[in-house]
Amino acid sequence: AGFTVAIVGRPNVGKSTLFNRLLEQRKAIVDDFSGVTRDRQYGVADWNGKTFNVIDTGGFVVGSDDIFEREIRKQVIVAMNEANVILFMCDVTTGITDLDASMADQLRRTDKPVYVVVNKVDNSERLLDATEFYSLGFERTFFLSSITGSGTGELLDDVVTHY
Ligand code: GDP
Ligand code: MG
Repeated sequence: AGFTVAIVGRPNVGKSTLFNRLLEQRKAIVDDFSGVTRDRQYGVADWNGKTFNVIDTGGFVVGSDDIFEREIRKQVIVAMNEANVILFMCDVTTGITDLDASMADQLRRTDKPVYVVVNKVDNSERLLDATEFYSLGFERTFFLSSITGSGTGELLDDVVTHY
């Protein structure tokens, strides 16, 4: 129970990096060793005095492309069921991939707030590239660098408005 934020997205977009950053203050997590051990991780984060659960999805073993896509779709369904807010993470360095587009189609079916979180926006040059993601058509689109932490505060300020 409680307010829950789920992070979904293709492998390697930076979900676990953001997850770890959100949980940093509490040091409540174990390293996920490339995420192959469990299909999701749960943690607790704080922002502006608000405490909430965070789900990091997608630590599954990749078999065939078919299983891979099905597994991602399953994780999105879990996120849509369990979370109050969904962070749909993408990667500015790859741009919008076919899988991103198909996840976006799936995520448009929920009434819950979905944030497009464009990650790896480490510098101003990448910020220019990142505007491409507005074309996914979500009302909430944020740019951040999970590695440097830039942009995470603005995102969380907005996320906790749904608390
Ligand atoms: P996941 O598979 O979505 O959980 O992605 P990970 O968090 O494991 O990150 C995948 C790779 O992207 C790792 O090498 C991270 O260090 C890197 N990464 C994550 N966030 C950023 C970022 O903001 N900028 C850059 N340049 N690399 C990042
Ligand atoms: Mg991961």
